[in-house]
Amino acid sequence: MQVNDDLYMLALPIQRGDQTVYFNASLILDAIHGPTLIDTGLPGQHDAIASTLADAGVRVSDLKRIILTHQDIDHVGSLHDLVQTSGARVLAHAVEAPYIDGSEPPRFARPEVLAQRPELRTVAERFLPTPVDEQLQDGARLDLAGGVRVIFTPGHTPGHMCLYHERTRTLIAGDALTASDGQLMGPNESATPDMPTASQSVRTLAELDVQTIICYHGGVVGVDARKQLQRVAQELAHK
Ligand SMILES: [Zn+2]
Repeated sequence: MQVNDDLYMLALPIQRGDQTVYFNASLILDAIHGPTLIDTGLPGQHDAIASTLADAGVRVSDLKRIILTHQDIDHVGSLHDLVQTSGARVLAHAVEAPYIDGSEPPRFARPEVLAQRPELRTVAERFLPTPVDEQLQDGARLDLAGGVRVIFTPGHTPGHMCLYHERTRTLIAGDALTASDGQLMGPNESATPDMPTASQSVRTLAELDVQTIICYHGGVVGVDARKQLQRVAQELAHK
């Protein structure tokens, strides 16, 4: 789905029982610097990503960079396979990089998490650590599609980050926010171990002048995005 001239949202279908849910990766187009993918679905979603990229006229082999919002398996799952096909550079926040490149066990593979959520074991086993070529810090500005800013938003994970595309005032929120049918909501509390920090991160985001928000879980928020973000920040004030 094309969000604006510079951005696509890539809806990756996931079968859960007889229901289909969607993870929403993003694609930033840049005629000079080439296409950039943000987040990579679960292990085994290389081809699903390839077919959503095709809607934007992009092949996996065209990808120049892949940016990860954080270390969770539904975001880094197909990173390894996509890098194999594309040779894309991998970028992530410095705090999150060790969990992606294999120097630290990612949280989904920790024994205490697997004990609680045994269904993660099969996907966790399929995760292949991948080197991070460039470690990002809060406030970094990437020279893509007129400028994309890194916003450090810890809480969901210790090194979670969002991206803000300046020209279209679009916030790629990762899991710092969620949405349902255009209604913006806070992060998924059951999957966010540090809610006070995550809430502080939402307050940081609420200072941005946003026109559109893309939530990995919940899709595009395009109506009253800024107002909705301020409302969510307020709702989270005491969490
Ligand atoms: Zn997620």
